[in-house]
Amino acid sequence: MSTEKKKNILIVEDDQDILLALKAFLELEGYGVRTAENGFEAMELLKSGELPNLILLDMKMPVMNGWQFAIEFLAKHDHLSPIVVMTAAADAKQRAQDISAIGWVAKPFELDDLLKMVKKYER
Ligand SMILES: [Mg+2]
Repeated sequence: MSTEKKKNILIVEDDQDILLALKAFLELEGYGVRTAENGFEAMELLKSGELPNLILLDMKMPVMNGWQFAIEFLAKHDHLSPIVVMTAAADAKQRAQDISAIGWVAKPFELDDLLKMVKKYER
């Protein structure tokens, strides 16, 4: 029996369909998953519990978008949780660089490609 601790992923995404699909998929892959619908919710959620092993971050969200979240997260937690940006293909790389994220996946993405990024960058 494996004694390895479950890795925890935080998904920050305002699109409910994407959020729920990703959550179900990553849980099937053995991850613990927490979700937030915008950056503000995510910052609130991070006030308790351990920091996630990886954050999947949408950029365009109401209330607090991905840029604002990244600024707040980095100010408070530095690079303790790697951030992978999920955003429209045309500017995905630029968006990741904007917030010094470790990686990006361009929407629409295949779940297998997302999983590769998670496995590559999780702490
Ligand atoms: Mg969005």
